[in-house]
Amino acid sequence: MATVSLLGLTKKFTDAAAVDALDLEIADGEFVALLGPSGCGKTTTLRLIAGFLQPDSGEIRVGTQVVSSPFILVPPERRSMSMIFQSYAVWPHMTVFQNVAYGLKFKKLSRHEIDRKVVEVLRLVHLDGLKDRYPSELSGGQQQRVALARALVVEPQILLMDEPLSNLDANLREEMRFEIRRLHEEFGITTVYVTHDQAEAMATSDRVAVLNGGRMVQAGRPAEIFDHPRTRFVAEFVGKANILDGRMDGDSRLQLGEGLEIRVARNPDVSLSPGEASVCLRPHNILLTADKSEAQALSSRNYNLFAGVIQRRIYFGESADYTIDLAPYPFTLRVVGPPANLYDKGQRIFALALPEHCVVVSNQ
Ligand code: ATP
Repeated sequence: MATVSLLGLTKKFTDAAAVDALDLEIADGEFVALLGPSGCGKTTTLRLIAGFLQPDSGEIRVGTQVVSSPFILVPPERRSMSMIFQSYAVWPHMTVFQNVAYGLKFKKLSRHEIDRKVVEVLRLVHLDGLKDRYPSELSGGQQQRVALARALVVEPQILLMDEPLSNLDANLREEMRFEIRRLHEEFGITTVYVTHDQAEAMATSDRVAVLNGGRMVQAGRPAEIFDHPRTRFVAEFVGKANILDGRMDGDSRLQLGEGLEIRVARNPDVSLSPGEASVCLRPHNILLTADKSEAQALSSRNYNLFAGVIQRRIYFGESADYTIDLAPYPFTLRVVGPPANLYDKGQRIFALALPEHCVVVSNQ
């Protein structure tokens, strides 16, 4: 079983911990993305899992075996793990075939067996026709596929990827996300994937673990993280968010200002400082209408109602992005609406949102 358990994992380079008491259970065959801003400890966590670094406290287990602790360090080459780097790290003087076959040399396989495995994996990463080319004759995306093939051909128990797509242009990056997910479904290898790109994390993973300052802030399925962020940091880091600060009035109402109270969704796991709270309201979960009677009808069907003025409109073709000024309240709302029926700057508008989309988050 290739489960990976991080238990109180801590690594310090200076006084401040780069990885701070991290707990994470990765199931056999699961794909988990470590997501967070620059410097939050993602790469350090991955290097700890790979065995390039030793923890100061805590431990890493693969199945039931402790592979890292302050007293134990199983060397990287004995962990049955493959790692893929941002820089591809393919050998420039070897052909595609030789690059991929390289890892198998140490496995004492017959020539025939090596040929069979390399041809098969090149087919799976869609490089069948390019096996005799050198890396300098390949595009960035093709080189990254060579790195993938080389990592997969040795049939590792665990695959570690460190920002593998960040050197590719935007279109190719998007295509390779789907490719990485397809290969994961094909091979089912337990995978840990480091990225600071939330769309990449959501497109590839079964679960996303959000890190901040070396600590785990929240781990969950992509939809769970997006729809039910527990903290302000997660809400703002994963997708666009309106964060509205106020005071809780009971369990399901938030007072945003004199005469402006909204109904909210409260997650019992979110601990709040007494009285104070914030809600995360995603821009695409807000409806706009200029029609007062329609706004009143929706409000009577439990929608929260905000009245404001369009302060800014940006047209993106597939959507329109508005900023709504809610004066006299000190808030603006960002709203993503359909590209049809555009509203104009300066127009009076009603913004409506269901309570389940007003998600209470802690202020961390
Ligand atoms: P990025 O997305 O920029 O790669 P990251 O989330 O992967 O960032 P890490 O590389 O894990 O972050 O770094 C975490 C913290 O540890 C940072 O403050 C970094 O400066 C520090 N750090 C990492 N490696 C070392 C090292 N070898 N010596 C000293 N400090 C280090």
